[in-house]
Amino acid sequence: MKSNTPGKKHISDRTRMLLTLELAIILPAASLMFFNFWNLHNIQRGKAIEAAIQRDFAVVLKFAEKKTWMRATDLLTPVRKDFPCVAQESEIKWQMEELLKAHPEFLYAIFYNKEHNILTWRSRPSGDGDEEFRRRVAEEVAMTTKWLPSEAPEQVHKLRVAEMKEENPFHFYGGWEEGRDDQHYYYQIGIFVPKNAPKESTTLAVVGFDPEYLRTTFFPAVMNDVLTSKNPALKSEEANPPAMMVRPVRGYTPWVTSPNWDGGKAELIWPLTEAFDGMAFGIKYRGTTVDAIGAKFLRNNYIILGALSLLMAGGVYMAYRNISRELNLARLKSDFVANVSHELRTPLALIRLYAETLELGRLTAKEKYQEYFRIIREESERLSALINNILDFSRIEAGRKEYEFKETDLAELVRTTLEAYRFQIEQNGFAFEEKIAADIPPVNVDREAIARSLLNLVNNALKYSKDQKYIGVSLYRANGSVKLEVADRGIGIAPAEQEKIFEKFYRCGDPLVHNTKGSGLGLSLVRHIAQAHGGNVSVESVPQQGSKFIIALPIRPSAEQGHGAA
Ligand code: ADP
Repeated sequence: MKSNTPGKKHISDRTRMLLTLELAIILPAASLMFFNFWNLHNIQRGKAIEAAIQRDFAVVLKFAEKKTWMRATDLLTPVRKDFPCVAQESEIKWQMEELLKAHPEFLYAIFYNKEHNILTWRSRPSGDGDEEFRRRVAEEVAMTTKWLPSEAPEQVHKLRVAEMKEENPFHFYGGWEEGRDDQHYYYQIGIFVPKNAPKESTTLAVVGFDPEYLRTTFFPAVMNDVLTSKNPALKSEEANPPAMMVRPVRGYTPWVTSPNWDGGKAELIWPLTEAFDGMAFGIKYRGTTVDAIGAKFLRNNYIILGALSLLMAGGVYMAYRNISRELNLARLKSDFVANVSHELRTPLALIRLYAETLELGRLTAKEKYQEYFRIIREESERLSALINNILDFSRIEAGRKEYEFKETDLAELVRTTLEAYRFQIEQNGFAFEEKIAADIPPVNVDREAIARSLLNLVNNALKYSKDQKYIGVSLYRANGSVKLEVADRGIGIAPAEQEKIFEKFYRCGDPLVHNTKGSGLGLSLVRHIAQAHGGNVSVESVPQQGSKFIIALPIRPSAEQGHGAA
């Protein structure tokens, strides 16, 4: 069964670096720049938004004032047309009464004619029962009749001129009065020359609007007209349309509010001037203020800016890590080349030297021949091991490494592998211990790869031991896997370096390591092989006391595990 090496590298390191740079730095930086420009534009817009909202509000309220005036005029026009203009006071009174019955939006009517010296008035009959109402009407009427005769000629003249110019033939007058119990009440009168008044006469009529009608019908209708109109100023940035209210100019309590009014301060107050003096319109957004809209705008901007900055900081950090890793790798690679050249040259030099000596045929002792042959064999074995490591490594790097998994008797494999080495180990003065459990089941492995892993570990134990020369190899079964352990009593590995030694080219800082030749590839191969078998390799080590490397292989690794490792 064959399996491809996991972790194929489709993307080269260089492309990855460029991609990282692009994604991690250039993209956030570009967005940040773009956002800043956009922001600058928007800060202006933020201020502009507030100004625009205020401007729109002013447009809406001006429109509302015009609507108020038009609605009031619409109420007065029929009354002016039907207002009595006969010469008898009793007849006028009666006709005024009829008029008030037909127009309940007015409380009372006053008639003045200079030529016949008539000044008379009538109030709405329905209000007659209420004492307070009568008193208030009488007060209002008294107030008006006081100035009416003296002001009439000028008022009539002005109104006639306006009518001739086809302008508004009404005058309005109104305000707040203090009633009983400090209660303020609103009065509003409309003044006009009756339509049927004789041409040259000084005739003037006055009607008083019913404040209750203004409050419950008139202003709600005006506000409804305004808020449902298609005025473009009503199209706000916010989803909800504005809310409106009417209140006394001097006061804060709303008198009438639109149904969507939610209390709070109006954003803009618009006092009415031409008609309904003393009243003001107020306008605002429901549930928010113009300030809040501006603040929200700013807050959103800050959040985006903060997020982008974080992204960029992250990008810088990632790029930094990537670059330092690349630099490290570059350094390790150059060490590797130096080490490997040396590693190749030494055995080759030895082989050549001994081969030449043998060739001369001057050796007398038979043992010498034996020794030279052994040296040549050992050196060439070292060479092969090194070259095998390098070839394996380059296959793995290129993603071309393939394993051949076969059901294998691991005990036998370990035994034969070590057998070839036993002599060398013992000759180097090492105590050698081999413990192989009896219950090792057959395991699906690549024979050659496992043997090479074991040799790498044994080789390291040989290389990195000083005075305490011991190598122990055990094979046993634990937790559903078979474990292959290689222990030594050598120089050990500092905790900080225990994870790094499995990285390619990594070699510890210990002086002994420095003086010992090596490629820094052995353990990275061991790890790759273990993972390709669905297992792993770990290390337990105490500096100056020794190390133990453990390869764990799952007992029944499926082909899939072999594929997906590393
Ligand atoms: P090499 O031995 O060629 O340097 P390896 O990948 O086999 O490369 O090992 C990486 C490093 O791990 C070694 O350089 C050494 O510093 C450390 N190391 C490996 N095995 C041992 C061990 N048994 N005892 C102490 N240090 C070890």
